Amino acid sequence: MLAGIKNRIEEYTLALTKIPSIVNSEGERNIAEFIHDKLFESPYFKENPDYLFYQHIENDKYQRKSVIALVRGTKGRDYSTDTVVLLGHIDTVGIEDYGALKELALNPEELQNALKNVELSAEVRKDLESGDWFFGRGIFDMKPGIAAHMALIEEAAKKPEELRGNLLFLGVPDEEANSAGMLAALKAVSILKEKYGLEYISVIDTDYMTQRYEGDEEKYIYIGTVGKLLPCFYIVGKETHVGQAFEGLDPNMLASELLMEINLSEELCDIADGESTVPPISLRQQDLKEGYSVQTAHSANLYFNYATHSQEPDEVLEKLKTKAIKAFSRVIERLNENYRIYCKNSSIPYRELPWKPKVLTYKELYDKVKEKIGDRLDEQIEQLKIDLLKDPEIDDRALSLRIVQLVQTLNPDKDPVVIIYYSPPYYPHVYVKGDTEKDKKLLNAVSNAVEKVKDKYPYKLTIKKFYPYISDLSYCRITEDEKIINSLIKNMPAWPDKYSLPVEDIRNLNVPVVNIGSFGKDAHKFTERVHKHFSFNVMPELLVLTVEELLNLV
Ligand SMILES: [Zn+2]
Repeated sequence: MLAGIKNRIEEYTLALTKIPSIVNSEGERNIAEFIHDKLFESPYFKENPDYLFYQHIENDKYQRKSVIALVRGTKGRDYSTDTVVLLGHIDTVGIEDYGALKELALNPEELQNALKNVELSAEVRKDLESGDWFFGRGIFDMKPGIAAHMALIEEAAKKPEELRGNLLFLGVPDEEANSAGMLAALKAVSILKEKYGLEYISVIDTDYMTQRYEGDEEKYIYIGTVGKLLPCFYIVGKETHVGQAFEGLDPNMLASELLMEINLSEELCDIADGESTVPPISLRQQDLKEGYSVQTAHSANLYFNYATHSQEPDEVLEKLKTKAIKAFSRVIERLNENYRIYCKNSSIPYRELPWKPKVLTYKELYDKVKEKIGDRLDEQIEQLKIDLLKDPEIDDRALSLRIVQLVQTLNPDKDPVVIIYYSPPYYPHVYVKGDTEKDKKLLNAVSNAVEKVKDKYPYKLTIKKFYPYISDLSYCRITEDEKIINSLIKNMPAWPDKYSLPVEDIRNLNVPVVNIGSFGKDAHKFTERVHKHFSFNVMPELLVLTVEELLNLV
C-alpha cells in the first residue's frame, strides 16, 4: 500500500492547506466537500456510493459536516469484520496571528518568501532557510494527517481484494473548538457497526506531533490520550461590613487558599505508566459581587483545567473535596489566630469564631435540598434552565454556576460552604493498559511498525502512552462503569440540557487509540511549519505498517 501513497501526501497537503477551513466558518464545509469529491474520483466509491457520505452536525450555524468513507476488504475466505478507524480533523485555528501576512497564511510558497523579511528567532530562520520545511496555517495541524488518510483510503479502494478487514475514514470539523464534528460522526460509526456488522479494533489519528522541550530530538508515537475535566468551586462566605471584619467569612480568602492548595499541585498530577499529566491550573477566579461597596463579597467562583491519565471523575471529585476541606480548615485556623491577636491588642475578650469547614459536591447539595423541598427543586431548576437557554450564546460555565447558585439559595442551611461541581467540557482519557485483546493488538502493531522503520531513517522514534494535547481521540473510549458516568452527570448541572456526550455511541466504538503524527513546530503560531521528510515519508510508513499489522496483512 505504501508505494502508492507516499507521492500523493505532499500534493494533498498543499492542496488542503490552500482551502480555508478555520474553525467555526463555512470553510469547514467547503473542505469536507473537497475531500468527498476527491475520494469520489475512486471508481470504488462510484460502485459503492453508500460507503462515502457526509454526517451533518445538527442545527449547525455553518451547516458543517464530517466526511465518512468506508472501504471493505474482501481478502480471505470469510470477510473479516475487523475495522480500523482513520480519524483526522479538517478544521484549523484562525489566521489573525499572521498579522500583516494574513493573506499569505494559506499560500506556503509566498509565505515562505515573505517570512524572509520578518524578524524571526534563530531556530525559525534556520528552518526557513533549510528548505526542509513548509510554512502555513494548517500545514502542520493537521492537513498532512488528512492527506495521509485520504491517500491510504484511495489506495485501499483500488484493491479491496488485497485488504483483509475494513478501513473507515472520519474527517471531522470543529476539533479546534467543541468537537461537534467528531461527536456527530460517532452516530455514523454506530450505524455502520450495526448495518455491516463491523468490529472496530483501533482508531488511528494523525494529528500533529512536536518537540516536548527545546532541543528535543525524539519523534513520538502516542498510544492513548490525555483527558480533561473542568472542576469548579462555588464558594459561599458570610458578608460583613469592613468595620466588623471578623464577623464575616471572606469568600475571596477561601478562594485564594483553595487556589494555593490546588493550583499546580504535584499531588494532583495523574501519573500512569510513568507518564505524568500537567497539574491542574486555574482558568478563572472571581468573586461574584457587583460594583463597589464597603460590604465584603458573599460568594466567589473558581475553576481549574484538570488533566487525567487514569483518574475518573468520581475519584477527582473526592481528591478535590479533601483539598477543599484542608484549605477551608486552614482559613478558619488563620482567622482565629489573627482574631486572637486582634482581641488582645484591642483589649476585648476572644471567643472562637463560629466557622466550620463545610464542603459539598453538587450532588450532595442537590440531594440535601431535594429532601427538604421535594419536586419544587426540579421545577425551579427547570424554569431557570428555560430562562437561561433563551440566550443561545450563554456560556456553559455561566449556566452551570447559575444553577448551583439557585440550588444553594434554596438550601435552608446558610452557613459558609464550598460546593464542587463540574462544568463542560469533559474529555475522557484513553489509557491503553494492555489488559484487553484490542489493547494488546494495538500495542504490538505499533511496536512492530516502529521496529521495522527505525533503522531506515535517521530519527529516534519513541512510543509514549498519552497524546498530551486535548483532541477528538478522547471520544473513542469511555468507561463502561455506570457509577462513574453517573457521578459525572449528577455533578454536572449543565447536563443534559446544555451539554452532553453521546455516551452510547462512544461505547459502540470503545477502542484503544494511537496518534501517528506528522512532525513540525509551532502549531497555532504564525511560524507553524511541517518537517517535510519526516511527515511525507516516515509518518505514512508508520501509518501503513500499523494498519497492516492491525489487519494481519503482514
Ligand atoms: Zn490538531
